[in-house]
Amino acid sequence: MKSDRKIPFLAGLSRRGLREWMSSEGQPGYRGEQVADWIFGRGVIQPEQMTNLPASLRLLLQARFHAPGSSVAEVSSSEDGTEKLLIELFDGESVEMVLIPSEERLTFCLSTQVGCPVQCRFCASGRDGLVRNLSAGEIIEEFLLGSERAGRRPDNLVFMGIGEGLLNYNELVKALVLLSSPDEFGMSPRRITVSTSGYVPGILKFAELEREFNLAISLHAPDDATRSKLIPPPFCYPVAEIMATADRYRELAGRMVTLEYTLLKGVNDSIPTARKLAALARSHHAKVNLIPYNATDTEFQRPERRVIEAFARTVEEEGAHVTVRVERGAESTAACGQLRRQEG
Ligand code: SAH
Ligand code: SF4
Repeated sequence: MKSDRKIPFLAGLSRRGLREWMSSEGQPGYRGEQVADWIFGRGVIQPEQMTNLPASLRLLLQARFHAPGSSVAEVSSSEDGTEKLLIELFDGESVEMVLIPSEERLTFCLSTQVGCPVQCRFCASGRDGLVRNLSAGEIIEEFLLGSERAGRRPDNLVFMGIGEGLLNYNELVKALVLLSSPDEFGMSPRRITVSTSGYVPGILKFAELEREFNLAISLHAPDDATRSKLIPPPFCYPVAEIMATADRYRELAGRMVTLEYTLLKGVNDSIPTARKLAALARSHHAKVNLIPYNATDTEFQRPERRVIEAFARTVEEEGAHVTVRVERGAESTAACGQLRRQEG
């Protein structure tokens, strides 16, 4: 595997980019179409497998690009069918992605960064801060490696793995465009969800794209005092500002926003808190997704089952739409601790 950081990723190019690269090399434009068909049609990015290309062109592609830069270093499978892939990147760093099958659909959970600069106090991903951003090509490679593993493309994609995607905005959006353009991977943006810790400038920019991607905002508390105990400055934005931004997203993208809420024992799990959360969700036309804390080595604990149920019931009784994430096997061992399936 090449370790040079300046080498581009073949998986990061669009159909048009491939055509342009070919013409810059004095190749006919249809060669770009051929490569695009391999990548977007068949999920193949290894030039050596592109049998309709001349051998010299295959060698040239191999020399000029990471194709691929990443590989699956380890797979942890669980009885319920969930599989976590540890993906080794070209420079020896690694991230995780998870394949989550259910009866009706297959969901991939993807990472956007190595580590995370936000460092939420309950999250293992941010423990050591940010190592580096993933490039769009590396994000697409996660998608392709997952598809290869599953033998098919996913129905849904969630960006809830390692990292704060909106702090790697350009590369994330580049990947989202490739995933959702009819000329490339052609997924519906309505089947793609970006999760953010509530990074307001990023949400505003994302809203201005006016694309129908789903947005999930990790609120974790309906009040600033509690929220600031969980998310350190400078990334802890005020609840009121986040909710105003969520409104903007709903208006421009035309999608209802989900409020994610990691339930932490004795911190944000009381009944009055549930009522406040429900009022906030209702007045901003947002859905609530409760994520019972998944133990990592922090000081936090998961509330007891009856507390989780009472919290969910209260949110519902107060008139907000609520779901609780169900833990799936491989996810309980996930280093990033948040790779879960949405249920309900
Ligand atoms: N950085 C983004 C997306 C990745 S985290 C974000 O924070 O939204 C995806 C979700 O998992 C977030 O809601 C996050 O708060 C939650 N999470 C992180 N660690 C967790 C843990 N140990 N248990 C339960 N949920 C966790
Ligand atoms: Fe980063 Fe999200 Fe973990 Fe917070 S919860 S540290 S934003 S990955």
